[in-house]
Amino acid sequence: MFQINKNNQSKYVCLFASCLITKGENRALLSDTQRGTFELIPNDMVTFLEHAQHLSLHSIFTMYGDDNKDILESYLDFLLQDEYVFLTDEETKNHFSPLKKQWKSPHIIANAIIDISSYNTTAVYYNDIVQQLDTLRCQALQIRAYSVLTIDEITHLIASAKDTCIESVELYTTYSELLTPQVLNTLLFEYTKVATIIIHSAPYANDIEVVKGLSTIHFTEEVLVGEQCCGVVSKKYFNPNKDMFMESQFHNTCLNRKISVDKDGFIKNCPSMRNHYGHCSQHTLEEVIDNEKFKVLGNITKDQISVCKTCEFRHVCTDCRAYTEDPSDSYSKPLKCGYSPVTNEWEEWSDNPLKQTAIIHYELHQLIKA
Ligand code: SF4
Ligand code: SF4
Repeated sequence: MFQINKNNQSKYVCLFASCLITKGENRALLSDTQRGTFELIPNDMVTFLEHAQHLSLHSIFTMYGDDNKDILESYLDFLLQDEYVFLTDEETKNHFSPLKKQWKSPHIIANAIIDISSYNTTAVYYNDIVQQLDTLRCQALQIRAYSVLTIDEITHLIASAKDTCIESVELYTTYSELLTPQVLNTLLFEYTKVATIIIHSAPYANDIEVVKGLSTIHFTEEVLVGEQCCGVVSKKYFNPNKDMFMESQFHNTCLNRKISVDKDGFIKNCPSMRNHYGHCSQHTLEEVIDNEKFKVLGNITKDQISVCKTCEFRHVCTDCRAYTEDPSDSYSKPLKCGYSPVTNEWEEWSDNPLKQTAIIHYELHQLIKA
């Protein structure tokens, strides 16, 4: 247990630069972006850490008074034990600068989604789109099918990325008995850019790690019938890494540098959007990303979005601009989020009576009933 004494009272508390704090309505999130973890802390602890940037322990304890000594000691005990802070001297405290808030990327397009409806129609333009993504230095590709793909079809889809700069591929397909773990394993060993194959609508759930930390086969009972299944906000998708945290300060955490081709071949910010920027048979991806209107959604930050702007999770949370609580307001809260930063509780988003009008607007009611 930490105790203030004559040996440590002249010390200063220094937060590790990789530990980043987001203050919310009632509490804060301490994200350890190096370890990829996060922890909820009281806003009072954040105020304490703010004072600690300028004051020695002796000065802080004097300022808070004897009544608060135990609580300050418990804060320090927690922060030191879990290695979020360290103690330093007055002469050295300025040697440890905080991380500069900045975000840069060498990718013109960082991630792309290609939705596949019928393999035969998609195959006509698929290779050309992947080549265009290569030119745009696309980093990650998500291929989503809402029907069964054969092994030959899967092989063609993932093989197209082989000699491109695309670093990682994620593929979704509907369950079939022919897509056994053994067959998929072989594919993942051959096509090492494929990080995840998700077999949805499966009769069982199972996660198989093929190469530790690099590739996984994920069988899920979740039934994905189309792009309208996307956009769910959940704690399991939170991502406390430095890149995400910094990107979220300046850009949208889903749509920044994203481009998509929907199941009918229309180029969009994401396949769930109603707006499109032309058909891929008539327009190139490059033409679309030069369109100023295309860039607007990618620059909406969590700090500008209603409700999210006071949420402690806003810099680790993915956003969704395709389904919002108020469909006429591009700055309203994601529809499929059931979290309230005021009550700090998670509820089933689709049960919320205030969301029913938007659910009908997006024609999600049938999906929810199913
Ligand atoms: S904007 Fe929403 S629906 Fe579109 S890709 Fe992002 S999370 Fe999915
Ligand atoms: S309120 Fe906003 S930031 Fe918070 S969890 Fe929901 S979508 Fe994410």
